[in-house]
Amino acid sequence: MFPIPSPPTLAIDGRTERFPVRRMYCIGRNYADHAKEMGAVPDKGSPIFFLKPADAIVTGDRVRYPPGTNNLHHEVEMVLALGRSGANVPLAEAPALIAGFAVGLDLTRRDLQTAAKAKGNPWDTGKSFDDCAPIGALTLGLPSPDARLTLSVNDVIRQSESIAAMLWSSAEIIALLSELYTLMPGDLIFTGTPAGVGPLLRGDHVVATLVGAADYRATID
Ligand code: MN
Repeated sequence: MFPIPSPPTLAIDGRTERFPVRRMYCIGRNYADHAKEMGAVPDKGSPIFFLKPADAIVTGDRVRYPPGTNNLHHEVEMVLALGRSGANVPLAEAPALIAGFAVGLDLTRRDLQTAAKAKGNPWDTGKSFDDCAPIGALTLGLPSPDARLTLSVNDVIRQSESIAAMLWSSAEIIALLSELYTLMPGDLIFTGTPAGVGPLLRGDHVVATLVGAADYRATID
């Protein structure tokens, strides 16, 4: 009577098999220059975690401009895919949970997020909406520790930074998250965005890259 939704999946580069997605975790303010551009003081003492719904993934080349905003922002990020479970994972064991990595966009209704911050309200409507998580194909293995992330809009580079600039490393993010949630295979983690976030308009063409991973290209509809 009621249709069963099919689970979202990611392509795996070079394979026909796909990666089934369970949850999407995100960390905020993980690059000092981005924290500063948002008016925050970079602070490694208090990570900000939030989630996006798994069915908000976009793997195709069209992203629907969301309702309820006049200020959709791009945030290019490395996305980690977990292949093993863990709770209270020690730092040294955290990398073993990583199955692969991809480039993704933590799309943000910045006007709604800014209003929520001002009122001390949760970020959900600013961060979680249909099509808020475009992600490229997954590459199995670990990223190079100094792989560069870039985002261009209409052939102009807006964001470019090495993942070595992350305040919390991939292993630290996994260890910290696993103190709050039991991590499972199929979980994705958006690891934060460097400086240069800005608005996207209908018709914009975006290209997101992370060295070692497949590029992601899309048009905003
Ligand atoms: Mn982000």
